[in-house]
Amino acid sequence: MSSLFLLINAPLCDILKLNFVCMGENMGGYAEVLKRLKQSFGVTFPFYEGDPYKVLISCILSARSRDERTYPTANKLFEKYHGPCQLAEAKLEDVQDILRHLGLWREKSKRVIDAAKVICELGYVPDTFEELTKIPGIGRKCAHIVLAYGFGKRVVAVDTHVRRISKRLGIVPTDAKDEEIEQAWLSVLGDDAKDINHYLVALGRRLCGRTPKCNECPLNDICKKQGV
Ligand code: SF4
Repeated sequence: MSSLFLLINAPLCDILKLNFVCMGENMGGYAEVLKRLKQSFGVTFPFYEGDPYKVLISCILSARSRDERTYPTANKLFEKYHGPCQLAEAKLEDVQDILRHLGLWREKSKRVIDAAKVICELGYVPDTFEELTKIPGIGRKCAHIVLAYGFGKRVVAVDTHVRRISKRLGIVPTDAKDEEIEQAWLSVLGDDAKDINHYLVALGRRLCGRTPKCNECPLNDICKKQGV
């Protein structure tokens, strides 16, 4: 092994905090994360996978709401309004009645109607980040959720669970931006990279929340526990 390699591989990486770029010997470990989570939690599928419109609307509804409330509520909305053009024509008060059990229900009622209006006018749900983020209520996370689970594209959606656990695992530094987290996972995972969101959310809810239960975690031996 050359001295140049040693120089770049250890001290420089520490100095520059290039955790992800420099952890060559650990990259196999990070590639293992998704595999282990699938083995531990079983293969499960995100709600409405393959239906970009429903994925988009339910992503708006999910902000600060638990899945147990979000998805039954979303189902009621989809049962009453069939497709974006019906929802675009809905009365605000009627939508509010359906969403009343969710957090931020007033804002969400307006947002889903506004989003439905744009999609109805377009005649389709866009499949690019740039177009999606022009839709009212759709930010970076929801755009990536739609691309990943609506269209099956190889993108990584970063939400609060993905952000927290990626930093704890050590795949990125603790001050990493969402874009760095996305790139880190894309670099170690293959075609199923989009699924890391789904499984890290599951891990965050069950074991790696505010107080991590590392002893029960399937990633215990490969996790750097940064900031834990
Ligand atoms: S080992 Fe602990 S900190 Fe790391 S992912 Fe698991 S629960 Fe979270």
